[in-house]
Amino acid sequence: MAVVKTVCTYCGTGCEIAATVENNTILAIEGDQDGEVSRGKLCVKGRYGFDFVASPARVKRPRIKKLFIAHNRSQMPEILQKRLFLLSEIDNDFFECDLDIALDIAAWKTEDILQRYGSGSFGFIGGARGNCESAYIFQKFAREIIGTPNVDNCARVCHAPSLAGLSRTIGLGAATNPFSDIYEAELIVVIGSNTTEAHPIVGLKILEAAKNGCKLAVIDTRRIMLGKNADLEILIGFDSNLKTLNYIAKYIVENRLYNQQFLSERTENYERYFQQITDDHNAIDDNLAKLLNSLAELIAAKKTLFCWGLGVTEHIDGSDCVSAISNIALLTGNVGKIGAGLMPLRGQNNVQGACDMGVLPYYETGYKQPKTVGLMTPQMITAAQNGTIKAIFNMGEDIVHTHSNQTKIAAAVDQLEFLCVNDLFMSQTAQKADIVFGVASAYEKSGIYINAERRLHIAAPLIRSELLDDWQIFAALSKRLNKPISLNNYEEIWREIQAKAPQMFGSKPYADMQNRQWSSDHSFAARLHTESFATPSGKATLFFAPSRACAECAENTFQLTTGRALEIYNNGAQTNESARLTRKISEDAVLIAPNDAAKLDLNRRYALISRYGSSSPLALKSSPNIAVGTLFCTFHFARSRINRLFGDECDSQTMTPNFKSIRVQLEPR
Ligand code: SF4
Repeated sequence: MAVVKTVCTYCGTGCEIAATVENNTILAIEGDQDGEVSRGKLCVKGRYGFDFVASPARVKRPRIKKLFIAHNRSQMPEILQKRLFLLSEIDNDFFECDLDIALDIAAWKTEDILQRYGSGSFGFIGGARGNCESAYIFQKFAREIIGTPNVDNCARVCHAPSLAGLSRTIGLGAATNPFSDIYEAELIVVIGSNTTEAHPIVGLKILEAAKNGCKLAVIDTRRIMLGKNADLEILIGFDSNLKTLNYIAKYIVENRLYNQQFLSERTENYERYFQQITDDHNAIDDNLAKLLNSLAELIAAKKTLFCWGLGVTEHIDGSDCVSAISNIALLTGNVGKIGAGLMPLRGQNNVQGACDMGVLPYYETGYKQPKTVGLMTPQMITAAQNGTIKAIFNMGEDIVHTHSNQTKIAAAVDQLEFLCVNDLFMSQTAQKADIVFGVASAYEKSGIYINAERRLHIAAPLIRSELLDDWQIFAALSKRLNKPISLNNYEEIWREIQAKAPQMFGSKPYADMQNRQWSSDHSFAARLHTESFATPSGKATLFFAPSRACAECAENTFQLTTGRALEIYNNGAQTNESARLTRKISEDAVLIAPNDAAKLDLNRRYALISRYGSSSPLALKSSPNIAVGTLFCTFHFARSRINRLFGDECDSQTMTPNFKSIRVQLEPR
């Protein structure tokens, strides 16, 4: 029996874990008492959600779609055709085979599409469950081997607006402070984040801080656990984030609560912003205004940490709202200080790392501008529908389940000549793939992961696996395409990453990366922007965007928002294969206000109908936490078809879908 330490595979909190392992089997996982983040604590996913590793549903050998072989057999070179007898039937749709022949077929098809349509016909969509090394090689394969700028990652459906909204104010789209500053703050403002469910250990830290005297303010559309423990619980209407944030900023300006010295020394356009925010029209209900006035006064008086989640970003004005939060922090001098700063609570375990590595169409590794800006995922989907994108390489991102406008995505993917997927399981997207490469899970490999506070963790494999890491699949393909990626292990890849982004990752040896928090000025600092901002002038810019009209519910319709449950993670790729977790929750349910529930038959199932589509029939549950006229639903189970309800409405800067607000009707089924 051995204890092996590594990092949790689920959310961007990045808790350190200590696993008990025997005979190549994980027996138990505890929080690592020495972990900088977890301090021995884990949520239910981290503690119990490891049995997916041994699930019989894992893709252990590559799979190739029978229809793909039928359509392509005659065009393959004779030598490849002769080896097709090596494919063996696994089910109605797929053959399975050895890695070697799957790689040869994938390389042949890639070359075929390159020759017929060129490099611009390729799209690369990455997930953020993999390590930095895989993310780096994925974008390198796309840009250098295939020659396409069309590279994106799953930040597109979560925190791309945080990157955009912060970049245009303080020059860098990353959390400014470490999680430990939660205990240093005098006030924590949580906006659009059900932190105790989505980032449970961060939620726990916030509750601990509040118990120890830190003031807590929570802004949300529904009652959440943090709100119930807050000094100020501020319930707002749907689509009113920007209006609320601008109101706070306006109150601060009009009542001269701003930090003049900070504005003069650290920002460059505050007078213009003062004029714009003063002119902003903000009709706010009297009771809400009183709460917001109190909050503005508290923010001006106290060291304040601002935390937000997808309740801010997944709106049509997500980037503007992030800038609006940043504006309030700048007005009150709450950036670049111990216990004061901006903390986007980023989603998956390595979504920060995937962005840092340049798995984005508008940034290369280390946030360098690329020569050519590529397509974002929704643009790739539209291009696939139009026939200009012919092939997509997908690394662990279940676009068919987790992106909006599912019907369109499914149809677009069906039109591709070639869809190649790396994943642990046959996700909705893998089921549509022509070739699926099963890859090692986070608990079976090494690599660096970067959490939401920019902290690097070097993972250790808990158990051995024959399966390759994602980067090894792309390195093997590059050799077959006669443009070999000559990086042979994690350390060699990391050295190249360091050479591309020395300002972030320095040049120290690989092992020295453990627990460091990257900065943008060669310093590996826990806090950013203490002296100057990451802008060309070193000064921050206040960015004004006007408030917009808010959603109003028509008769017999509800405003729906979606979110997570504690036990399941995203599309359930791993958690749905964990018997311990699915025992606690095994289907999505719709929460409805008691007054609305009283008018319905809760023994029946209801389909949600929006102007874009219909969900599967779902159970309704009455909840006192939901406001009249609104609904809340999780999106974890593909069979619920929740994301069919959402269309192409998105944040105007980043095309992040408007997952947090859609008008629906309930139809009994
Ligand atoms: Fe894992 Fe996140 Fe839970 Fe920590 S809070 S144990 S990182 S899922």
